[in-house]
Amino acid sequence: MRKQIAAANWKMNLTIQQGETLLNDVLGASIELTSNQQAIFAVPFPYLLMVKEKIAGKNNYFVAAQNCYDKKSGAYTGEVSVEMLQSIGIQYCVLGHSERREYFNESNKMLADKLNLCLQYGITPIFCCGEPLPVREQNGQNEFVKLQLEESLFHLSSEEITKIVIAYEPIWAIGTGKTATTEQAQEMHQYLRSAIADKYGKEVADSISILYGGSVKANNAVELFASPDVDGGLVGGASLNANEFIQIIKALK
Ligand code: PGA
Repeated sequence: MRKQIAAANWKMNLTIQQGETLLNDVLGASIELTSNQQAIFAVPFPYLLMVKEKIAGKNNYFVAAQNCYDKKSGAYTGEVSVEMLQSIGIQYCVLGHSERREYFNESNKMLADKLNLCLQYGITPIFCCGEPLPVREQNGQNEFVKLQLEESLFHLSSEEITKIVIAYEPIWAIGTGKTATTEQAQEMHQYLRSAIADKYGKEVADSISILYGGSVKANNAVELFASPDVDGGLVGGASLNANEFIQIIKALK
């Protein structure tokens, strides 16, 4: 059975003290996760070890980086390599968030390179995809997102692709309070799964967790996550509020 995942994306928010308080509050709720459920905190690089320490010994809680560089090592001042993340015991890395694609010009090809490095170092990529509003308005979302998968993921072997998590995040829903409807989310998740099934077979497609992201809140998580192909969420704004995020974790199937 594929994992059901609530992933917090703190983005570039909070001081370490604020992050620690937030984490204490979320962990203080003592939510018992089943072996099929996970809570992941994607936090800024300087906070990775703090979070890792806090969640030590807690089953099914994980920490994730929000990015990594697409080269192994070398003269790339200011960048963080996948090997560095591995060396401090990080198990997940968010890749290709639309903010990185937009503000840092990350291409599908560059993301394929980052993805390969993550897999090489045993780090699970949380690969983000999703269309901008004009594409949705033209009803071109399926082709747009399929191309993102084809160019960044479809070079992987069946064994490799089962090691990744996908997050579908329609750009028009991120930080806007405009959540995709449950029907829109389910429709796209089903489409993504069928595109993966066409290439790798149904068994592989059925084993991959596909998260929804874009204005997930405590008051819409239960309905969104109940959809058969929605395996949890990647949560920005609402993950900065302990009570909201606690409710979102509790909304997992
Ligand atoms: P949001 O962000 O929940 O604030 O819309 C989601 C994301 O960007 O991962």
